Amino acid sequence: MDLSFTPEELAFRDEARHFFRTEIPRSIRDKVAEGEGLTRDDMITSQRILNARGWATPNWPVEWGGRGWSPVQVYFYQDEMQQANCPPPIGFNVSMVGPVIAQFANDDIKRRFLPATANADIFWCQGFSEPGSGSDLASLRTKAERKGDKYIVNGQKIWTTLAQYADWIFCLVRTDPAAKQQEGISFLLIDMKTPGITVRPIVTIDGGREVNEVFFDNVEVPVENLVGQENKGWDYAKFLLGNERTGIARVGMSKAKVARIKELAALEFKGGRPMIENPRFMEKLTAIEIELKALEMTQLRVVSDERKREKGKQNPASSILKLKGSVIQQQLTELLMEVVGPFMMPYQREFDGNNEPVVGPDYATEAAPMYFNYRKVSIYGGSNEIQRNIIAKAILGL
Ligand SMILES: Cc1cc2nc3c(=O)[nH]c(=O)nc-3n(C[C@H](O)[C@H](O)[C@H](O)COP(=O)(O)OP(=O)(O)OC[C@H]3O[C@@H](n4cnc5c(N)ncnc54)[C@H](O)[C@@H]3O)c2cc1C
Repeated sequence: MDLSFTPEELAFRDEARHFFRTEIPRSIRDKVAEGEGLTRDDMITSQRILNARGWATPNWPVEWGGRGWSPVQVYFYQDEMQQANCPPPIGFNVSMVGPVIAQFANDDIKRRFLPATANADIFWCQGFSEPGSGSDLASLRTKAERKGDKYIVNGQKIWTTLAQYADWIFCLVRTDPAAKQQEGISFLLIDMKTPGITVRPIVTIDGGREVNEVFFDNVEVPVENLVGQENKGWDYAKFLLGNERTGIARVGMSKAKVARIKELAALEFKGGRPMIENPRFMEKLTAIEIELKALEMTQLRVVSDERKREKGKQNPASSILKLKGSVIQQQLTELLMEVVGPFMMPYQREFDGNNEPVVGPDYATEAAPMYFNYRKVSIYGGSNEIQRNIIAKAILGL
């Protein structure tokens, strides 16, 4: 493995560091650092600043605004963005539906959707999972029946992140119930304002509103909103899910959390001394830092390997990054709970209707919601058990 960076690569890292720390508004970055939910406006503002510089869609084909960056540049772009606590580009737009449209849709759909998707003029959400069809996604039952120049869509999606913000939803729907599971699925683009769509919130364990159920009741969708070929949607979904895991290790984000924990551990006292001087606490933090360093090395190994890899071929090692990255993210939220100690209780996120005064320092309010919210990272993007299955099969050959 070659881990040395060229002077050009290091110059790019410095450029990215400067850009993220000066151009993305401080108010938005502070919210990310403190684990506060971002508003729709925050996400759109940040995405448009990136897009104005041509940095919103680096992974897209160059003719549609991609940068053609090397894996090392992509690594620095993500790492510096995360360490600066910048919101990433809207994942549904940039990592998911954009690349699928660019790769598989006709020119009309590309022209209609790609520029608006890059600039967040359209906010997308992802309608894949259904009750009973999460890990076993190919069993999905939402159906789209062709009637003339329309599909009539009926069914239900679940865990649809930020559907309450979304203008459009990209959906996997069953168009051929008689075919084998994977062969009867299509990829449809649906305007969320279409009559017959109902969005119902699911309040999560941290008191947040991030995920939803989406119901389709005789929703009419023009056939020109089909991406690629009918019944080929599973191929496009596999392509999309491969992209979804890009950057999933969140090494930069975890580095920013370590820095935050150290900052707060200097303010909080236990036994008359700041937590940061408590050997048992520091032993735990250091153990996680070592794991994080090892994860970063693994990520760099994957990057180094990608330099030689056939373009577009997914590296199964990304499952290791997802697995280990999510475990570390969760461990850091546990440590933050330890830092703020009793002030993490009572549970005190400022959700609607809570007008109680905050008990303890303001920063303590972030600990419990973040801890609870981060239970999700070992579930979405393919659960950790599924990643272990992939590692067992594709890497260990079991
Ligand atoms: C916060 C959050 C946001 C999400 N956002 C979206 C979104 O925007 N759009 C969307 O479409 N989906 C979204 N999802 C859904 C997510 O993709 C699914 O939750 C995930 O695929 C798991 O599916 P499931 O919840 O149905 O659990 P199941 O698949 O029922 O799994 C239940 C348990 O069984 C285990 N398991 C399942 N199969 C196997 C197996 N073969 N071997 C070993 N263990 C197994 C799982 O690991 C898990 O522990 C989101 C989920 C969360 C938590």
